Amino acid sequence: MEPLSLPVYADVVAAALRIEGQAHKTPVMTSRTVNELLGAEVFFKCENLQRMGAFKFRGAFNALSRFDETQRRHGVVAFSSGNHAQAIALSARLLGIPATIVMPHDAPAAKVEATKGYGGHVVVYDRYTEDREQIGRDLAARHGYTLIPPYDHPDVIAGQGTAAKELLETVGDLDALFVPLGGGGLLSGSSLAVRALSPHCKLYGVEPETGNDGQQSFRAGRIVHIEAPKTIADGAQTQHLGQYTFALIRQHVDDVLTASDAQLVECMRLFATRMKLLVEPTGCLGLAAALPMKAALQGKRVGVLISGGNVDMAKLCEWL
Ligand SMILES: *Cc1c(COP(=O)(O)O)cnc(C)c1O
Repeated sequence: MEPLSLPVYADVVAAALRIEGQAHKTPVMTSRTVNELLGAEVFFKCENLQRMGAFKFRGAFNALSRFDETQRRHGVVAFSSGNHAQAIALSARLLGIPATIVMPHDAPAAKVEATKGYGGHVVVYDRYTEDREQIGRDLAARHGYTLIPPYDHPDVIAGQGTAAKELLETVGDLDALFVPLGGGGLLSGSSLAVRALSPHCKLYGVEPETGNDGQQSFRAGRIVHIEAPKTIADGAQTQHLGQYTFALIRQHVDDVLTASDAQLVECMRLFATRMKLLVEPTGCLGLAAALPMKAALQGKRVGVLISGGNVDMAKLCEWL
């Protein structure tokens, strides 16, 4: 097998230049209530306020910006029912590249509509009888589309790393940073920025309790696959890390932690009531893991990455 060519911090810096003026420099917020709760100084990087509502715009725009003339003409294909679909559709529209998004037939209507609204051509498949990766590959082969995966791609990883880069450039050194973990694009990108800008900062990935494949992989030293987990954190329902993301996480991350759905709901409530922030369940993973670590975080400077804010209002009401 060929050795992987892993992205490095210089790729994050290059990505930051490509997305400049397109992605928002999202605000860093603080809360006295949270500082008192934790006995620490906590800095929230608000990617729930990013374009299309999540950090995924960063990786998608960076990856599409690197297409050559032929790739641009033929277009991009992605499979996703969530934030990656909208990130690819919006980035493609901004760059004038045709986009095809493969979505399950039972994807939430709001997500299908949002993806179409950004100009994406939606192809539906039956998630019980058809293999979306096969459909994506077939479309790519037949039409010459370039497939951009949601996390395991060097340009996607480098783009996602720009959020932690902005956070550290804004607040300076941190003692600890908590980052939501699905397939690991955000965490591995963040790891490049952290090791370059605040090398002694403890870096934690946080997964849903029921979907702790990343934690198992981190501890076993190999990629562990699991069944699709049941959790309200739909942005982290991935079944395994990727080759690139696992290699970087293994090298640079201090530990992988977990949070329960009940903890995520409590954090959604806290964000809404105390900080007036609308955060989706997956976006709450970082804070949910930091709160129980009060003793260890006493007097420290702590970063929490809020990854997204795309939450269904009816479900939110139900959970609260
Ligand atoms: C995709 C996503 C994640 C997980 O990101 P990975 O790069 O797959 O680890 C976390 N939060 C939100 C809101 C997401 O959309």
